[in-house]
Amino acid sequence: MVLRVGVVGGGQLARMMIAPAVELGIDIRVLAEQEAMAAEIAASAVGDYTDTGTVLSFARDVDVVTFDHEHVPQTVLAALVDAGVAVHPGPHALQYAQDKLEMRAKLAELGMPQPEWAAVHGAAELQDFIDANGGRAVVKTPRGGYDGKGVRVVSAGSDAQDWFDALDEGGALLAEELVDFTRELAQQVARRPSGQIVAWPVVETIQRDGVCAEVLAPAPKAGEKMIEVAARIGVDIAAGLDVTGALAVEMFETSDERILVNELAMRPHNSGHWTQDGAVTSQFEQHLRAVLDLPLGETTPTADWAVMVNILGGPSDGGLTDRFADAMRAHPSAKIHTYGKAPRPGRKVGHVTVSGDDLDDVVYEARAAASYFGG
Ligand code: ADP
Repeated sequence: MVLRVGVVGGGQLARMMIAPAVELGIDIRVLAEQEAMAAEIAASAVGDYTDTGTVLSFARDVDVVTFDHEHVPQTVLAALVDAGVAVHPGPHALQYAQDKLEMRAKLAELGMPQPEWAAVHGAAELQDFIDANGGRAVVKTPRGGYDGKGVRVVSAGSDAQDWFDALDEGGALLAEELVDFTRELAQQVARRPSGQIVAWPVVETIQRDGVCAEVLAPAPKAGEKMIEVAARIGVDIAAGLDVTGALAVEMFETSDERILVNELAMRPHNSGHWTQDGAVTSQFEQHLRAVLDLPLGETTPTADWAVMVNILGGPSDGGLTDRFADAMRAHPSAKIHTYGKAPRPGRKVGHVTVSGDDLDDVVYEARAAASYFGG
């Protein structure tokens, strides 16, 4: 019997699920928007993921529906569940990755460590929060933000007036304390519907202009205690929210060595791309296994260190493949991944991963190989 997985969304995350699906003999299908990259190489339907009829008819031919983004409306997800479709992660879990206010409230209920936060309905409430938190705050739009869009540091209640004006009646923004973090971390876990959970080692993520630029795996200088605490947070959130499939927990490490949860992604995540070339089981294979409720693979790293460098923007002239020969000749240990996307300033168009036993060498090789691709 052939196993059939339907992925809603045709971006690079869906695209990177295709290789392990092919290796395992899983029939993978993608519901893509026009000209999406994954649609070039997987059986696909082209259509609007906000349209219930389109998603229902896509789901008819697969055993399980999963996602490469979090934007499928709850009404569409509910229709899938009502029609008896297996949906992983389920709508009741996905809501916490769709709405940062709902996530903060739920994580508080679970007793997870997180920044001070509040739902603020207008400039006066935001000013109160700023006054109570040292004169500055981070304001976030609860929905639709990505790569730092929808995140703003403010020092006056009026600094977010344009976002308050755009809210629906009774709506709120999320205000958070401005965390004085020493670095950002990410914890990946995967969980099956029947309950099995596995965790990869916690990694360090380095952002530039709000976009992930590099990932160091495992997080350098992470002691046993921190590795344990981070894994425990990931496992508790996955179980507490009934997440199925891959979960990434973005976290801050503070100067007083606390870990605070920033946000959640319920799908393979940029901070886990290193697992393709640096762990026994990649996050993409694991996600497929998890949503199909198959036994999960080992998460052990295959080398002491793996470093992933994103290719942001791409070359100013020519395509990524034009640079292959030079990059491959100079850096034969580099694993180069491209997404079939047109280069554009700041856009994630590919990544390079290098693994090995000396962190400095691995960082150098990964950065040097990625630099051939511009950006
Ligand atoms: P997005 O959904 O756009 O990824 P995030 O909530 O992850 O938004 O925020 C993007 C970046 O902004 C984070 O990676 C971090 O660098 C910074 N940031 C977010 N929240 C805070 C905070 N409370 N304190 C300090 N920096 C923050």
